[in-house]
Amino acid sequence: MPELPEVEGVVRQIRPVSIGKRIVSVDVSDTIRKSKKAGKEAILKRIEADDFQERLAGAQILGVERRSKYIYMTMKNEQEFLLVNHLGMSGAWFFVDSLLSIPEDKFRRHVHIVLTLDDGNLLAFSDIRRFGEMRVLETEADFPPLLLMAPEPFADGALEWFLQQAESPRFRNKPIKEVIMDGTVISGCGNIYATEALFRMKIHPKRAASRISCKRKIELFQAIAAILLESIEAGGSTISDYRNINGESGSMQDRFGMYGKKTCTVCGTETKTVKIASRASVYCPSCQK
Ligand SMILES: [Zn+2]
Repeated sequence: MPELPEVEGVVRQIRPVSIGKRIVSVDVSDTIRKSKKAGKEAILKRIEADDFQERLAGAQILGVERRSKYIYMTMKNEQEFLLVNHLGMSGAWFFVDSLLSIPEDKFRRHVHIVLTLDDGNLLAFSDIRRFGEMRVLETEADFPPLLLMAPEPFADGALEWFLQQAESPRFRNKPIKEVIMDGTVISGCGNIYATEALFRMKIHPKRAASRISCKRKIELFQAIAAILLESIEAGGSTISDYRNINGESGSMQDRFGMYGKKTCTVCGTETKTVKIASRASVYCPSCQK
């Protein structure tokens, strides 16, 4: 599943090719249309396919930003509005001159939204598993979960926010892994980077937040931010379906010390897996206490 570094990579690539461009037409796949007709909300949330097309067609793209794991595209038709996109499990944007130029068949077959830009290029959203989301919002407040997100991990105040939350009655007795993966505590730290940060810090994923000293919590937060930045530099992690807008994979997975490992990369001990907050958590029973 794409996490913060992967989303950041997509945003950095979409930005220069889209800002200032106008969307001349919008296509929505038959799969999405059928799903909407059946009362399901595949990808397009709280908006009908025709309304989505009408809203975006003719709009100019003013800005492309990342907030946590969301992509915010600021657009302007008569008024400014936001297209907010979450990649879900396997969402991917491609910037191509034709759909045939999308590099792999599995992505080509699952293109659901196509924005044709006024320079003739396409921004195509492919989503194999259709857990991605797109919302048209007047402001962030139209989708309240966006307002509950913790500050960006690199922003001023994010560390203080994390310490405050981790000490709060809601989180202090919870396993640290669950705490750091909660988007209201730290923005954008999912299973992969939480696993790696706890491994680097030699902290057992089930240890209660209250049983970690303040000094260690600060170091853990810094480790998370460092790993996220390292991954941004490495073009993100490609576990299965993540690709950037040119169809390239990231390489952060080559640097993992623990995620997806059968044996510890430090001491060679067989790794263990526990379920925390319904996610599989892999750790080294010898290194992580
Ligand atoms: Zn170990």
